[in-house]
Amino acid sequence: MKPLLEVSHVSYSYHTLAGETPALSDITFTVDSGEFLAIVGPSGCGKSTLLSLLSGLLTPEQGTIHINNSPISTHQTNIGYMLQKDHLFEWRTVYRNVILGLEIQNRKTEENLAHVEQMLRDYGLSAFKNARPSELSGGMRQRAALIRTLALDPSLLLLDEPFSALDYQTRLNVCDDVYQIIKKEKKTAILVTHDLSEAISMADRIFILSKRPATIQKTVSVHFDPSELLPMKRRHAREFKEYFNEIWKELNQNE
Ligand code: ADP
Ligand code: MG
Repeated sequence: MKPLLEVSHVSYSYHTLAGETPALSDITFTVDSGEFLAIVGPSGCGKSTLLSLLSGLLTPEQGTIHINNSPISTHQTNIGYMLQKDHLFEWRTVYRNVILGLEIQNRKTEENLAHVEQMLRDYGLSAFKNARPSELSGGMRQRAALIRTLALDPSLLLLDEPFSALDYQTRLNVCDDVYQIIKKEKKTAILVTHDLSEAISMADRIFILSKRPATIQKTVSVHFDPSELLPMKRRHAREFKEYFNEIWKELNQNE
């Protein structure tokens, strides 16, 4: 089977009046359909830049990126992006927030709206359809933001530190929720995080990036027994500490 995503020898630098900032250097990897990839690395190393390239917001200076065998374009519609801030609009109800993407892309079909209804029911937001975002807890807001993204049925989901604005307790719960939703909707996901534990508790595979300009310094495949453990359970599994130590050591070689 061909991989869903193919990134080949990608490099990128920012050019400003102050000069050139090389952000990524010769990045090559593939992601299979249904895989959950996490990317960790020091702050400012180029993680968000990599996601911007994958989403088509930026164009590589060198190298190529393909999704489903087609080159990434600047108006990529089959990629969903979730950020640290949920960007829910207070002047819209929860329902009108989650259908916003469908509205903008003129895709409010019966089928797509039924999928939204289904997700609101499955993920505990049905009763809050007519509420305003400010009436939701932090965790519910992130779920609503995820449903809005999934409403467009993206083939690939990009998550840029989506939990870092939440307090610790909420974060652990939202991690479990988001993980379950992604698995249930059979999505392929790339999670960028500076939180090692988060990466280990969610991913099938972890890339450790070097300092800027980022290269893939190491890849770690993650296996838990039994393999379907939820993130919270993974944190308490025997394997967790071993992965943590391995990646921690690698990251500190960076310092
Ligand atoms: P990370 O997400 O890993 O913290 P980023 O990808 O956001 O890192 O940034 C990588 C480097 O590129 C940083 O040094 C940052 O200052 C620089 N950078 C990011 N965005 C811009 C921009 N728009 N213009 C110039 N430099 C930028
Ligand atoms: Mg970032």
